Parts: sequence; C-alpha cells; structure tokens
Amino acid sequence: MKKKLPTYYRKTLKTMNKKRFLTAAMLFLSFISFGQNYNDAIKEYLSNNLEKLDLLEDDIKEWKMTNEVFSKQTKVRHVYIQQLHKGIPVFNAVSNLTLKDNKVIFVGNSFVKDLSSKIKSTTPTLKAENAIVQVAEQLKLGRVNGVELMEELGNNNFVFSKSGISQEKISVELVYQPLKDGSVKLSWLLNVYQLDGIHWWNIRVDAKTGVILQKNDWGVNCNYDMDTDTHSHAPTIKKEEVKSPVILIKKKENLFELDQYNVFRLPVESPNHGSRSIVSSPHNIIASPFGWHDTDGAAGAEYTITRGNNVHAQLDDDGENETIGYSPDGGSALNFNFPLDRDGKAAETYKDASLTNLFYVSNIMHDIWYQYGFDEVSGNFQANNYGREAALTFPPTDGDEVIADGQDASGRNNANFATPRDGRNPRMQMFLWDDAVVKINTGSLSGKYTGDAYEASFGASLEENPITANLALMQDSGDDPLQGCSESGLDVAGLAGNIAVIRSSGCLFVNKVQLAQDNNAVAVIVVNSNPGRFRMGGESTTITIPAISVSQELGEAMITALQNGESLNVALTGTPLDGSFDNGIVAHEYGHGISNRLVGGGGNVNCLSNQEQLGEGWSDYFGLAITMKPGDTDTTLRGIGTFTRSEAITGRGIRRYPYTTNMSVNPFIFSDVKDQGLGDGSVSVHGVGSIWAAMLWDLQWKMIGIYGFDSNMYTGNGGNNKTMQLVISGLKLTPCNSGFVGARDAILAADELLNDGVNQCAIWEVFARRGLGYSADSGDADSFTDQTIAFDMPPESVLPASKCAALNLNTETLKMFTVYPNPATTLIRISLVSEVKNATTAIYDMNGREVYSKKSDLKGTVTINTENLSAGIYILKINNEVISYSQKIIIN
Ligand SMILES: [Zn+2]
Repeated sequence: MKKKLPTYYRKTLKTMNKKRFLTAAMLFLSFISFGQNYNDAIKEYLSNNLEKLDLLEDDIKEWKMTNEVFSKQTKVRHVYIQQLHKGIPVFNAVSNLTLKDNKVIFVGNSFVKDLSSKIKSTTPTLKAENAIVQVAEQLKLGRVNGVELMEELGNNNFVFSKSGISQEKISVELVYQPLKDGSVKLSWLLNVYQLDGIHWWNIRVDAKTGVILQKNDWGVNCNYDMDTDTHSHAPTIKKEEVKSPVILIKKKENLFELDQYNVFRLPVESPNHGSRSIVSSPHNIIASPFGWHDTDGAAGAEYTITRGNNVHAQLDDDGENETIGYSPDGGSALNFNFPLDRDGKAAETYKDASLTNLFYVSNIMHDIWYQYGFDEVSGNFQANNYGREAALTFPPTDGDEVIADGQDASGRNNANFATPRDGRNPRMQMFLWDDAVVKINTGSLSGKYTGDAYEASFGASLEENPITANLALMQDSGDDPLQGCSESGLDVAGLAGNIAVIRSSGCLFVNKVQLAQDNNAVAVIVVNSNPGRFRMGGESTTITIPAISVSQELGEAMITALQNGESLNVALTGTPLDGSFDNGIVAHEYGHGISNRLVGGGGNVNCLSNQEQLGEGWSDYFGLAITMKPGDTDTTLRGIGTFTRSEAITGRGIRRYPYTTNMSVNPFIFSDVKDQGLGDGSVSVHGVGSIWAAMLWDLQWKMIGIYGFDSNMYTGNGGNNKTMQLVISGLKLTPCNSGFVGARDAILAADELLNDGVNQCAIWEVFARRGLGYSADSGDADSFTDQTIAFDMPPESVLPASKCAALNLNTETLKMFTVYPNPATTLIRISLVSEVKNATTAIYDMNGREVYSKKSDLKGTVTINTENLSAGIYILKINNEVISYSQKIIIN
C-alpha cells in the first residue's frame, strides 16, 4: 500500500533522488568493471604458481568463474572460480582470487590436488529422480510423491517438484564429492528444505549406489551444546535491577513525522541490560535509502507492518513456515510503539513489541554491516537491490530479504538461520526460552526466586498457570538418602501429590524423576550437588510431570528447612523468555547469513560446513561488536545470550566462557579446538566458534587500544570500526572450507589491502597469544583434532621489524602525552614530552559528535576548557601527519 510521503522523506529525496543516485552508482561500477576480462590474469597466475598452490598442471586445466565481487572498502575484485572435471563441478572446490590492477594478489585455494587420478566414474548409474527417493528414505523425510521435472538447467542439472518432502522445489545436479579418504566420487547434489523447516539440506548422494556421502545444513541451529551439563560453571545471581538508560530526546526542530519503534535500542543488548526507548527513523541513508518499509525504490513505504526491503518480521506461533504470519502494524505514521509487560505473561500478549524489536535489530544488522561491505554486490539480503548491482558479470539477484519468524513454535531454547544462495530468502527462526520461576508461599524461605532454576530437557513444560503443592524430601535408605536412586526404604506416602526434592548426584536424572512420578509426585526439584545451577539433560517418553533443577544454594536451603520440620508450599511456573528481545542473539543469527554469503561468494553458501569452520565464531563477534558501549573495557565480561538463560549480564550465557581478553577467565587457545568433540565423531560448532570469537574479541580490543573506541558503528574511526572492517573484508578473502589458519591469513591480507599492513604486528600478537602464531597449522580443515599450536611471531622475512616499529611508535606516542585530571570537571591539561607540530586536538562525545576542535602546535602543557561539556564520557584525539593519539576522558 502507498501512503503520503512524510516530510522527512521529501527532505531526503531532495538531496538524493533515485535517478541521480542510480546514475552515480552505475558510473562507479562501469568505471571498475566494463570490458575487463580476468581470465587471462587468472590463468597466468595459476600456471605460474602451481607449487605454491600445491596443485598439478592437470588440476587447473578446467574451471569456470562463478562469481565476481568488487569491494569498495579494499578496492579489490574478488573472483571465485570453480574446479571442473569433464564439465562437472567439484563440490566446494571453489577458490577465491583477489585481483588489483588486473593482477592476482591473494588466493584462497580450495582446488583438489591430483583430481583426475582420484576420479573413477564420469557417468551416473542412478537417475536424478531416484536420488530424491534415496534421500527421502535415508533421512526419513516421508513418502515421495508427484516427482516432476520442472526445469532442465543444463547437462545433468535439474529442478524437480517439491515431491511431497520439501518446502521448495528440489534441485538435483551432478557433482564430484571429495571424501576424507582422498577419493572423489561422482554424486548427485540435492537441495531439500525439510517440511518442518528445521533443516535445509544440501546433500551429496553417490550417483552409483544412492548412499548419502555428505550433507550440510543451510540452516544453522544455534543451540548451545551444554544442555546436558552435570554441574554449573556460572554463579547463581538474582536478576539485577536494571537502571533506565538516558533516553535521547529529539530536539524540537526535528519533530518530523518519522517512523518510530519502541525497542531495546543498541547498544542495549537485552532487557537485562537496559530499558526500551523510542527510536525515530533509525534507518541508515546509505544502506536503506528509502527506509525500512520500502520495496520499490521510490519514495514512500509499501508496508506499514514490520516488513520492507531488508526484513519481513512475522509471527510463527504455529511453527508453519508456509503461511504468512501476523506482523504488527504501525499505521500510516509507522508508529511501532507497543506495550511490553513480560511479568508472568504469555509471550503471545506482547508479540507486537517482540516482532518490532526483531525487525529493528535485523534491519540495524543490514545497515551497519552494509558500511563495511556486506552490500548488494556481495550478496546481501534485500527484496530490491535498487539497481546497485548493475553492470556486473554475475549480478546478484533481488528477492532475498530476511524472513524473520518471531516466537516460532517449531522449537524451544534455540534460534536458527538458514542461508540459501543469493536470490532466495533466508529464514531466521527465533524461539522462546524456558525460564522456571519458584515461588515459595510459606515458611522461612518465602519469596519469589527467579534466575535459580531451569526446566529439564524432558518431562512436561511449566506454564504460566502454576503447579502448586507442598515440597517433600524424596527419602530412601541409601547412603545419601536424598539421591532418589533407590526404591528401597522409599518414603512413598510422603511423595503423593507433592513436589519431590532430590539431590543431583548418584544416577541419571530421568531415573530420579521417573521414580518420583511412579510414586505419584506431581513435580520434581533436583538440587545441584555443586555450587550454582545447571540444566538437566536426558530423554524420556514416559515422564509426564515437570522437572526443574535449582542451584545448590536455593536447593540446600529448602532441604534444611524441610529437615527442620517446616512446611514449604511452592508454586512452579514457566514464563518463557523471548529470544527476539536478546539483540545479541538476533545479531548472531543474522551474522550466519553474512558469513555464509561472504565466504565463497553469494552464489555458494556451502563453504562453512567443514569441521574446523568458524561460522559460530563470526556470529558471536557480530553480536558483541554492535552491543559494545562506552565505558566497556577489554576485561568487561561479555556472555552470549545471558538474558535467555536468566543470568546476570556478567554470566557466560550459552558459551563455555564469557568473552574477555583476560585469559584467566577465558583461557581458550587454538589447541582447545580438539576438545570440542561431541562424542559421536561430530564437533560442537559452537565450541570451535567460541575459540575463534575469543581471538577476534582480543583483536577488537587490541585495535581499540591503538585507535580508541568509537560508538558510531556505521562510519566511526575507532579500533572497533577498523576491526569490523577487517572481519568483513577478511570474510571475503577466507578460502572455502577454511580452518583457523586460513581465516587468520585472510584478516592479515585484509589489513594489507585496507591499511597497507600497518596493523600486521598487532594482529600477529593477538593470534599468537592464543596459540595461532606463525608456525600454527590447521592440518586438515575438515578435521577438528589435528591442529598444531604455536605461539611464535613470524620471521623477519614475513614481518619486517619496521612493521612492528610502527606499532612501537604508537606505544611511544602514548608516552608522549599525559592527560589530567581524568575524570575532569572544568578543564583538562595535556602535558607533552616534546613539541607536536600542526596538531588537531579534538574531543568527541559518545555519539561520535565533535564537541571541541583546535588546530595548533602543541608544546609544554596545554589546557582545554571543558566547562561547557555536560557530564559524560568523551574521546580526546590528537592527530597530525605522524601521530594518532586517542584517550578516553570523563567529565563529571
Ligand atoms: Zn549460531
């Protein structure tokens, strides 16, 4: 629907009408792309570098270009080439070559060595349609029916109907699949989107036998693997009282008619980190030139609901992906100010506020990372690419805004993101997270306990409607009579109709709970045998009563009170926590889309499916980076998803350790990757990712130490912005199927391209500190158990001392200035060791706004009057041709 163009848009369009905008974009693109052919440069490079690439003459004979991206930030061209054998592509054998001035300057090689000798067969004996039947059988996807060939895209490249097993048409293409044993098998590559929406499979089936050889999931399930902890690592902390942050009120002259959202405004991470506030017209004019509700590239919103060019946020409370869900409507004023009262309320009652927040954060993710190069030509998510993809050999396709499903009923305690290739909609699914609340109605412990308990992975779910009963110790005649492991001497009469209290040690949780249920208990509380709280894992189809685990502190207090003869009447409720309010988790999910589209190019989203892949790490980093706030330090504890676990904001959240540069708190080093196995030969992608994110987080702070922090996430100049840029540019340089070493080298290469390598020394120091030094080796990137750890810096031939000298210069620079007093009130003094000629001294507030600036020669002691600055945190910067100094100052 169309609506009257608000004043704000009219103003915007005066300065940036669409026509002019497009012309500018096309001029730019034609300048860098017209008529160029990189084939010759690439051919020449490959044949001259066989030894370096560890390939044979024969391996580079046959390939095709599959994607090409010009990166504005690095001013280089990323070209992706696919290795072929007799015209058939080799799965994930996609190398990325970086070209500057028509010269190859960086390569992420993923070609298979000695390919032709590894290949036995070139013709399939299994028919493409039979591969569909084989997959359905082996993955238990149900009955295949109505298989129909819809399209033939080329030789042995088909599109079939959904065939009763897929939400989307099924593509079937002949490929070669490299296997762990070194062989390369002719296979059918199928793409099946499971009807329940949980998995979006990309499967390779032996084209002879029909056996599934390998599969990867375009959907990334972001569950943590720690559900089955038997003891807790986290302190038990009551929910904190949250102070309201200062709400920025728009000045009167800015009272245009604006789109408004009542949300947890970044950098607020979650309801436990701060309150909601109203943000007005938060879209970024470069990334979303027509606002967040546009799709046609002309002024005016097409939608008044939470839908637009970047994101379509909708309710999926029936877990059915096929229907279009409910979205809140902001009306013609686009006013998304909805009430939020979560206290004991069903999630359904605040769906408008939830979907608004989901829409907001997802759009912010689009807009922020757009600045750093996740843009149209790089395969970002937009319904309409606004013509910015013009004049490319492999133009990206429209029609792939993110479908963000809020309060999705197809799962619990989780979130996920499925990334198909460019031009097809990705889907984010945000679930509700269980949170058990224990209210003690009688006795000395009376009160409401939140943040102490978790529901078990088995048994009935607690609801908003409480289960109210008396507590009863589950007493038997065993050594520890409260373990609930033995029937002998069990106090059966005491359990009937009551809530059984059991200690966690001794036997399986499901056995304890089953025994309590068999003796007519109505619910079970399991008390941690170690300090803190924990989650109970396990599976049971026969347990029908709810079971919760509580912290040792609360549980032992209950046991003592009961043993003292108190009667404890207790109400148990489950008030779900809505993942859409955890901005860090939403950012993490969206981040999967960024990494999957950038590594290997937007046309190939399978490059992060090897065991040592780092997708989860990049996602954690994205969440951390956009929720940084002024005043944070390198040792501020940053957990992921602390809100959804009802933890204090200093908790570890859904990871093993909180993020911090303090290695006594987060001790992860590269060799810890080998300990991330799940016991069945598979690997915890979150465990591996968390080690990578720890390194990226160190880098973030190393760079902030050098360049300062800038709270302007879009166009700031801080060390955080520089790291954000290194990460995005690094993703584009990371080889397909990369491990840690490949990703580290990509970041080093990005620094060469972006900053002439001035940060090489700092980057090496960061990675070497956690064991990813110069001599480190990923081994086979498809194995998580074969790393070589090293803490060394590169030799002089790789990292000339001059590069480290540049860094030392900065350390010297830091010594040149002393700023005092800090905190200050009416003035600050800068005392200098030596004269600094032609310096710009400037002060910025935390919104990146310049509040003071002066150009002068600095000598002796300089005084700056700060009387006019309101209390708060500021950044002082001193710059000239050779010096770049920044320092945080506080004005009281
Ligand atoms: Zn994830």
